Amino acid sequence: MDNCIFCKIVRGEIPSYKIYEDDNILAFLDIAPVSPGHVLVVPKKHFKNMEEIDIEILQDLIAVVKKIGIKIKENVGASGYNICINNDSVAGQVVPHLHFHIIPRKEGDGLMPWPQKEYSEGEADEIAKKIKL
Ligand code: AMP
Ligand code: ZN
Repeated sequence: MDNCIFCKIVRGEIPSYKIYEDDNILAFLDIAPVSPGHVLVVPKKHFKNMEEIDIEILQDLIAVVKKIGIKIKENVGASGYNICINNDSVAGQVVPHLHFHIIPRKEGDGLMPWPQKEYSEGEADEIAKKIKL
């Protein structure tokens, strides 16, 4: 994709702090980190979202995410990390080239997860039926 910023990073047209690279995958530092060591893991081929990506490449991606997570815990002083995909713009996806975020976490870092709500009577049953595989 000509105008995709991550495709440009993959092609080397925009610089990045590379963490990992193979034939299908590139991982690099997020330029505006939530915490130091925030990494993005992307397929080299342009897929917009989880619906588009080939399952084989997704499996390779998550294997790389796992390896980088280990490094982050060993060497960045993080005691955990969040793994996140913002899938589509309504979910916060700004760059429409599928990517995993790996966000190092430390005790007391103050980062808050999403607010949680409660189901109304019968709502959980209804929605579970709708998305059951
Ligand atoms: P998302 O909102 O899930 O699409 O996340 C896009 C991420 O890409 C953001 O966290 C940005 O900080 C990051 N980002 C944008 N441009 C660059 C860049 N040139 N190099 C590294 N990260 C970038
Ligand atoms: Zn792209």
